[in-house]
Amino acid sequence: MAKPIVAIVGRPNVGKSTIFNRIAGERISIVEDTPGVTRDRIYTNSEWLGHPFSMIDTGGIAVGDEPLVQQISEQAEIAIDEADVIVFVVSVREGVTDADEKVAKILYRTNKPVILAVNKVDNPEQRAQIYDFYSLGFGDPIPVAGTHGIGTGDLLDAIVKNFPENAGDEEDDSIKFSFIGRPNVGKSSLVNAILGEERVIVSGIEGTTRDAVDTKFTTADGSEFTMIDTAGIRKKGKVYENTEKYSVMRALRAIDRSDVVVMVLNAEEGIREQDKHVAGYAHEAGKGIIIAVNKWDAIKKNTHSLNDFTAAIRQEFQYLSYAPIIFVSAKTHQRLGELPALIKRINENHGRRIQSAVLNDVIMDALAYNPTPTDNGRRLRVYYTTQVATKPPTFVIFVNDPELMHFSYERFLENRIREAFDFEGTPVHLIERKRK
Ligand code: GDP
Ligand code: GDP
Repeated sequence: MAKPIVAIVGRPNVGKSTIFNRIAGERISIVEDTPGVTRDRIYTNSEWLGHPFSMIDTGGIAVGDEPLVQQISEQAEIAIDEADVIVFVVSVREGVTDADEKVAKILYRTNKPVILAVNKVDNPEQRAQIYDFYSLGFGDPIPVAGTHGIGTGDLLDAIVKNFPENAGDEEDDSIKFSFIGRPNVGKSSLVNAILGEERVIVSGIEGTTRDAVDTKFTTADGSEFTMIDTAGIRKKGKVYENTEKYSVMRALRAIDRSDVVVMVLNAEEGIREQDKHVAGYAHEAGKGIIIAVNKWDAIKKNTHSLNDFTAAIRQEFQYLSYAPIIFVSAKTHQRLGELPALIKRINENHGRRIQSAVLNDVIMDALAYNPTPTDNGRRLRVYYTTQVATKPPTFVIFVNDPELMHFSYERFLENRIREAFDFEGTPVHLIERKRK
């Protein structure tokens, strides 16, 4: 079972996104640095007392221009469908409103735990008023003040207490991957084409309401795969599934659950902004990444087409220089037979572990080839390197002073590591530590 999901629901203006951001904490990343992304963030990973979880602010998912009541119901439906624990936010300032009761009515339909958080309890006097909210029928209300962070610890305690027993356990040994990309790039077609390949044996389709439908299959060489579904692949027919925010949220969720992410681009349309957002998330999450250019059958090609498209991808996704690019067609099945083997290879690279002795030989050679930088007469000294994690491969370099490590020198060392060992398709993390 994957990381549990917490969904925040409630009518507008009760403080859902304030509480969401408070729990998410302030993390700055290249993805969220993109204008408009931080403000719009509705999905995040967090942790409380050693319990990792994902969190959705359903308030950020507006379904078209439907009336407010309709929006609130849709958001509550999303919470019921997606979450393991639901946080129902109300505001002490207005007391129990009609809209709160509408939300409550929908939430009565679920057996999932619902925690009632009464927000905007800014001072002790307001605490007495939280008892009015017992009438909503969700037990003890928890007073919080999102803007000040008061009560969020108690709220998190209540959330964690309600996680399912086996939450966070490893699933099985199969290679987990997903197809990610904008609507219409051909994700469902790719799924169907791969499952339709001769020599691919589909062993089971697992449906859970929460993570939709995963498909397990085995290829001729006996390799087992789990294909993680994202919104838009198998449509359940709910209105909200067509909204962009929802599908991005589902894509981020699928990335979290995958070892390898196949980012699908549409050869006919080239690269768009939305492609970059999701790719950036996969990169930061340290996942194995393959770039698949689909609909390769549909464009007029000459001898330069492949090189031109490759150059454009390398230009637009500079941080993904490690990701292999494959040109495929779900329609003609061109090169599709190679995809499972490629996913398998990238998965192996993602989990590759290098012996310290071999690793240090490579680093020593690199140091001899290209002397370490100096700053104000002080030279960077590299003592020892060791791999501390896989998925993604993470190396700690013990040095005299981490400040002396320049970005360009770190890049040089990473390239040396990549030349010596096969880390194609996976990010590699280097961390400098001061030797004690
Ligand atoms: P959402 O629509 O439910 O996501 O609500 P927001 O998080 O956007 O908050 C709505 C308004 O309530 C904003 O102006 C917040 O600053 C304010 N607000 C949120 N939490 C608190 C709180 O704990 N106390 C007070 N006084 N105002 C709050
Ligand atoms: P999704 O929204 O990403 O799941 O995209 P779909 O799989 O639904 O495909 C969108 C459209 O592109 C459909 O009309 C497909 O028939 C078409 N399509 C998908 N893959 C290919 C391909 O490789 N070549 C061509 N010519 N059309 C494709």
